[in-house]
Amino acid sequence: MAERERRPQDAPLPPGSRIGILGGGQLGRMLAVAAAELGFSCHIYCPEENPPAGDVAAAVTTAPYEDDEALAAFADSVDVVTYEFENVSEHAAAVLTAHVPVRPGARALATAQDRLAEKTFLQEAGIATAPFAKVDTLDDLERAAETLGRPSILKTRRFGYDGKGQVKLDESTDLKNAFDEIGGQPAILEGFVPFTREISVIVARAVDGSTAAYDPGENVHKNHILHTTTVPAAIAPPTAQAALEIAQKLVTALDYVGIMGVEMFHMDGDNTLIVNEFAPRVHNSGHWTQDGCAVSQFEQHIRAVAGWTLGNPARHADTVMTNLIGHDADNWLALASEPGTRLHLYGKKESRPGRKMGHINRLKPHTPR
Ligand code: AMP
Repeated sequence: MAERERRPQDAPLPPGSRIGILGGGQLGRMLAVAAAELGFSCHIYCPEENPPAGDVAAAVTTAPYEDDEALAAFADSVDVVTYEFENVSEHAAAVLTAHVPVRPGARALATAQDRLAEKTFLQEAGIATAPFAKVDTLDDLERAAETLGRPSILKTRRFGYDGKGQVKLDESTDLKNAFDEIGGQPAILEGFVPFTREISVIVARAVDGSTAAYDPGENVHKNHILHTTTVPAAIAPPTAQAALEIAQKLVTALDYVGIMGVEMFHMDGDNTLIVNEFAPRVHNSGHWTQDGCAVSQFEQHIRAVAGWTLGNPARHADTVMTNLIGHDADNWLALASEPGTRLHLYGKKESRPGRKMGHINRLKPHTPR
């Protein structure tokens, strides 16, 4: 792809520069570690005291995301701002952007935060999605259920994740109850996709427009939380190639900078790939790249937001990433002693059911696709 004309703010940040990260969880922590390996330092901004990312950062601001003064002071202290969660408000992004580049930009945030905007954008970019309809009222829902049939899935437009804010409609579901269950919020109804597997592609785009995509991983969830990502996914090489091309098309259409996680449904029968959603940030289903690839998703994101060229996303090992949820991480010594396994812990002081405490990457020799 031809290089875009470089603006002064597109110039690569030299080592020694400071990267601001909104959010202090494990994703921010792993970004800060990767940034340190390239000679950068990080400043974390989050409302919580003692965030996991704070242990490995040069500076931490503890303030609400609605505090414009604190946001402005934070932006003035760094050379670029990125984030580890997609619900950064439009207002906060605008406050920060007045001081310093924010990557990925406001358009990526606005699109990913609203399922209707996300699905509409995908459709306009020529990327297949589940059929969907806008639902603002019970009347809309009745019409949409007629058109899309059942089963179908009612999802809130905003702030839904890990299956929250969703109701499956089957033949016996009362539509009013379903709409009440999601709080009568603006929503979409999606046709049910009878998928065989869920895969995800971690893709990066640099300031100069070049892209790099990692091999698709196959995801298995338990209790609505990602359990494992297995790479390579059990799909034929042309299907894997098609998945990478979809992800690259998506980031290019969005004029995106940084890492994006793109979740897709795959159907064995007609070999269709359908994009379910995308996250404008490093993604749990990309943690396998820390040990399966020379350049991890975290380093790749730092490279992209710092205006560097992208690193090589090639995979050198087959990898199974398993999340350590709640007390799973109590087993740390046995896991750390397993040959071929790398343990990653997030430094969280307190274990709670459903809380992500760490993950492991189990490596096997590389089988080429
Ligand atoms: P989401 O919050 O959109 O990632 O959805 C959570 C989970 O619900 C997905 O991982 C799927 O297992 C399931 N799901 C979501 N949308 C659909 C759909 N249109 N058809 C079938 N299953 C779906």
